[in-house]
Amino acid sequence: MKPVSVTVRVPAKVNVQLAVGAARPDGFHDLANVFLAVGLHDEVTVTPADALRVTCSGPDADQVPLDRTNLAARAALALAERYGRDPAVHLHIAKDIPVAGGMAGGSADGAAALLACDTLWGTGASRAELLDICAELGSDVPFSLVGGAALGTGRGEKLTPLEVGGTFHWVFALADGGLSTPAVFREFDRLAEESGREIPEPMPSDPLLAALAKGDPHALAATVSNDLQPAALSLRPSLAATLAAGREAGALTALVSGSGPTTAFLAPDAPSATKIAEALTGVCRTVRTTTAPAPGATVV
Ligand code: ATP
Repeated sequence: MKPVSVTVRVPAKVNVQLAVGAARPDGFHDLANVFLAVGLHDEVTVTPADALRVTCSGPDADQVPLDRTNLAARAALALAERYGRDPAVHLHIAKDIPVAGGMAGGSADGAAALLACDTLWGTGASRAELLDICAELGSDVPFSLVGGAALGTGRGEKLTPLEVGGTFHWVFALADGGLSTPAVFREFDRLAEESGREIPEPMPSDPLLAALAKGDPHALAATVSNDLQPAALSLRPSLAATLAAGREAGALTALVSGSGPTTAFLAPDAPSATKIAEALTGVCRTVRTTTAPAPGATVV
């Protein structure tokens, strides 16, 4: 018997390395992007309906578009078109990943909706075909399907899975209001032009990949980097105080997550993570403690 509804759980991500190249003629930037999936999740439930419809619940629900620009809707439409299905489904997003927070929440919902619709419709699409549709939907969507840790090159969508040798303890400070990823890239370009310096070709850091493979938080802390951080701080200067508060509370490193404004703190162990979270309470909107790596989109 066919299932009546399918729910998929999908993780957020933090970039432990985000190396950004110069703007290409098409406006995109080449990236060397090391993604790590973390234990903050959205859940997308798909149910047959009369017409395509999106609903969303959660603290940030009012910031999520419910029309066909929603990445979950776009994923359902892309799969339906490719496999000749009727996209008449209700997609409900139970949102716990901050919106426009630099944690790929929209991308996560796209990957989750794709897997949920694929399971509901029984299309028999291969993993490679699903990843192909993900890459069409957006640079961060393939990683949301795969999870764990991966190196993304090109616009970030060409993925190589990475070995992770242990559990990392993270604290995330959620900020008020989001930052638009394109606006942060524009600020990156503006700052680059202002400084007049040559932007090197983005390359993955071997010591960082070794730290992940070893599962060593101290080595990872010494090697994390985010080329978008100066741009995010330029657009949202108040993040500097949040980063400093986390460092002072014992974080091994503090960085802006992706394009921000969420900030990420790596702790040496679980008790330290709790301590850092306590120190950050009141400094930012919400604090979340979690571990990485987390599995990719999974039917529950
Ligand atoms: P990334 O880390 O991939 O750059 P982000 O985490 O900063 O992205 P998202 O939460 O993905 O940002 O949202 C960016 C914008 O995408 C939102 O402001 C919203 O207008 C739009 N959007 C489309 N679909 C969704 C969705 N399912 N959930 C959240 N935002 C969505």
